[in-house]
Amino acid sequence: MENIKGKVVAITGASSGIGEAIARHLSALGANVVIGARRDDRLEKIAKELSNNDSRVIYKKLDVTDPKQVQAFIAYAIEEFNSLDVFINNAGIMPLSMINDYKINEWNAMIDVNIKGVLHGIAAALPVFEEKDKGQIINITSVADRWVGPTSTIYSATKFAVRTISEGLRQEVSENIRVTIVAPGATESELAEHISDPELRKVAKKQFRTNLLPAQAIANAVAFAISQPKDVDVNELVVRPTGQK
Ligand code: NDP
Repeated sequence: MENIKGKVVAITGASSGIGEAIARHLSALGANVVIGARRDDRLEKIAKELSNNDSRVIYKKLDVTDPKQVQAFIAYAIEEFNSLDVFINNAGIMPLSMINDYKINEWNAMIDVNIKGVLHGIAAALPVFEEKDKGQIINITSVADRWVGPTSTIYSATKFAVRTISEGLRQEVSENIRVTIVAPGATESELAEHISDPELRKVAKKQFRTNLLPAQAIANAVAFAISQPKDVDVNELVVRPTGQK
């Protein structure tokens, strides 16, 4: 993973789960990392724990639904490290529900974080990459970017959207800018905690308890995509626990 050492990587939603695991892994591989999320107390602890002689990890409080905050997050990375090599749109929420429960606020929240948040990330990072004519955008989607089932309709719709956006982006940008999606299957994290229906949360958490991927598995996939030679663009990695249908 020689290509990762010294790279500057910014990650949204890195206060827990997959984003935190990506930060830990890339830092261990010698990257300099900027982590963002709303729970900055957690970010502070993670950044302190990970920073060492080979890797500096810094943090900034970030709500991806606000484009100005996403701009400021990237500006902070460049201010501190004088460059940005990889931007990872990882922040996401998954309040599952049946459509006829009409949890409109939760639908809107998913659209705001999972779709608009990613667009805000692209709008902030792409000009930096276009100016240098190099860089990599990695969007964490889900197997729900190609699959839908009861209760996951709106969540899946947001992830289908991000997969579509990623493919369009890949076709539009210069050949020196790489665009990758990593689509995790069921993975250890706090994602199911935010399902508001207690019964559904119980069922989802039970499902989520069996045969989960460690978040490290997704961090490995991200590192694989980053570490390829610059003319190799890994466009999609789908990573499920063995046996997940
Ligand atoms: P977690 O709930 O553990 O992590 C989600 C992260 O997103 C947290 O750091 C949270 O931080 C952050 N976040 C949520 N809302 C915002 C916001 N408005 N602004 C900034 N950050 C925000 O779940 P995961 O680690 O599982 O989720 C990470 C990604 O992986 C998501 O995109 C999810 O859809 C995807 N995924 C997860 C799967 C799984 O099985 N775990 C499967 C497939 C995809 P904070 O609350 O501090 O802001």
